[in-house]
Order: sequence, then structure tokens, then C-alpha cells
Amino acid sequence: MQETGRSLRVLITEREIQQRVRELAEAIDRDYPEGILYLVGVLKGAAIFLADLVRAVRRPVRLDFIGISSYGAAKTSSGEVRLTKDLDVSIAGAHVLVVEDIVDTGLTLRYLLRLLSSRQPRSLRVVALLDKRERRVCEVPVDYVGFVIPDQFVVGYGLDYAEDYRGLRDICVLE
Ligand code: 5GP
Repeated sequence: MQETGRSLRVLITEREIQQRVRELAEAIDRDYPEGILYLVGVLKGAAIFLADLVRAVRRPVRLDFIGISSYGAAKTSSGEVRLTKDLDVSIAGAHVLVVEDIVDTGLTLRYLLRLLSSRQPRSLRVVALLDKRERRVCEVPVDYVGFVIPDQFVVGYGLDYAEDYRGLRDICVLE
């Protein structure tokens, strides 16, 4: 597969993603029997995962989004995290499930969890579609993981490289 001159190798197919999203949704339905549940999508990478997840869960949920500065055109983390868009609503007293595309070093998630926990949610958990566990530099709890992947740069299903490739249906390694 070819786009803007780079080659892509499929790592996780659309079918595998959809199956796993259904399984994650079932686990979420089981674990949150009652109370208001906010799914908080981390822009922009998690938008497509969130869109599929919200239709796969059966319990009622509410949506919100939070924006975090990304790597820009670089492929490695600077460790610098910046809030670019805050939540629209108060999460005090609500169950909050952060919906992340990928956890890599864990720095972004650590920042987010500190920020959100200061707002007194009833509970705070994380669902991440992808987990590059071997790259972690700080311990962060990830309650639901779609796929553990090796240390390779991936794009597609919402994930970009310099804003390209987000619309790919499969998750691909950018080579
Ligand atoms: P962390 O702070 O855990 O190092 O990085 C988390 C963020 O880095 C993700 O939300 C994502 O935006 C970006 N990221 C980390 N690894 C990858 C990758 O393999 N592909 C893409 N497209 N983004 C990544």
C-alpha cells in the first residue's frame, strides 16, 4: 500500500479491530452497570475508535473530547504535553473512561490522568486501542487494552503521520 511515497504494511486488519472493539464494549458494559458514564476521547487520534466504541456499548454513555498536543510531524515523543482543548462539561461525580488511541511512553496519559482526577470523578479508567508497552517510561494504569503492539510506528484507524493516513481502515506500520 502506498500514500505520499511511503510504504505501509498491515499490522491489524479492519476485521480484527472490529472484533476487538466488540469485546472491549462487552467488558465495559459488564463493569459499569449504573451511573453516568462519560467516554472522553483524546483528540484527534482516538476519534474513530471512540465512534466505533460508542456504538458497540449497550449501556447509556455521554461523550466529551479533550485535546492534547501531539508530536506534530515528528515520530518520537518530546515528553512535552499541552492541553489544546478542555472538556465541555464537569465530570465531578461521574464515571469517566478515557478513550486513547495508543499509549507509548505513557507521558500523555500521566498528564491527562492527573488533570482529570483533580476534578473529582466518581471513577477514572482508561481504554486504549493500542499499547506499545515496551516503550513505557512511566507507569500508568491502562484498564482495557485492545492490542499490545511492538515498538513500530503505526498509522490508520485515526492514527496519523503528519496528519496523513487517519482514514485507513486497517492499522498499518509506516515503513
Ligand atoms: P505517549 O505520551 O504515551 O508517548 O504518546 C501518546 C501519543 O503519541 C498517542 O496518543 C499518539 O498521538 C502518539 N503516538 C505514539 N505512538 C504512535 C504511533 O506509533 N503512531 C502514531 N500515529 N502516533 C503515536
